[in-house]
Amino acid sequence: MTIDIDAKAKALVDAILAEPATDHDIDVVQRQLGRYPRGMVAVGARCVCGRPLAVITRPVLPGGIPFPTTCYLTGPEAVKAASHVEAAGIMQQYNDMLGADEELQAAYRQAHELYLAFRHELATRLDDSEEHIEGTSAGGMPVRVKCLHALLAQSLVMGPGANPIGDMVLERIKDEFDPALCRCSLED
Ligand SMILES: [Zn+2]
Repeated sequence: MTIDIDAKAKALVDAILAEPATDHDIDVVQRQLGRYPRGMVAVGARCVCGRPLAVITRPVLPGGIPFPTTCYLTGPEAVKAASHVEAAGIMQQYNDMLGADEELQAAYRQAHELYLAFRHELATRLDDSEEHIEGTSAGGMPVRVKCLHALLAQSLVMGPGANPIGDMVLERIKDEFDPALCRCSLED
């Protein structure tokens, strides 16, 4: 599947910047992570109940720290489900599939390019420098699978078809985590 990466990146950033993080969002994410989410721009994906699942973080954190993981998974149930898949050794399977399937390789490379285009658009609008993170996406992209949390976050933020491995993780964990079915344990 081929998509217009620049157009999709711009549309995603438009949607993100149209709804900046509220104080309540930041408070909920702080409790999800157990730390203050520095540089959080907006919630990139929400549970059907409205709680944040993944956040968008700016390319340069306050204090000038470069931050490449623009889409960051915060929903505790999603984090836990992705950790279970990693602990079951499934990442090796994904890496093997990636090594053997040229179509998957192309789709995964496109996910990497979309990630970079999205961050570049965000950096441009926020006037952040990408000097120290240029060409770096997340999760091992474009040729390895190293962190399922990062890939799942991209799938949740950018929707089906954006990241083929993230989509596979989402499908695999749906009995444990599904953005369309609230299983949130965190209180408001
Ligand atoms: Zn929920």
